Amino acid sequence: MTSSNNNWVCFSCKYHKREPKIRKSTPHCIYCKRELYCLGYKIPVPKKHKVKEWEALACCMYWTDIENLEEEQKSRVESKHRIEREIKELIYEKKDTKENRKRLKKLKNELENL
Ligand SMILES: [Zn+2]
Repeated sequence: MTSSNNNWVCFSCKYHKREPKIRKSTPHCIYCKRELYCLGYKIPVPKKHKVKEWEALACCMYWTDIENLEEEQKSRVESKHRIEREIKELIYEKKDTKENRKRLKKLKNELENL
């Protein structure tokens, strides 16, 4: 097993294949044709007949995805607040200089792209 390949799985068909980490597109299941889920390279793939292990893995990945989404959202909100604070400081507490105007423009862009 090399770290340059990830395990890609289909939880429905219990199909798995190893593919490189960096790909142009997501690989598909050869049975149901749906996109495969990337497990990474550290998580072992259960044997096809170990149904309970597949179910536990699917459940674990589901909660991991939810946690990651929540973290992402939390981080986005924190960034938004940080940028808003900095904009407020620039507008109310700092001098109107060319540098500050540039910084303000950059911050407003960052805020729009969050
Ligand atoms: Zn499938």
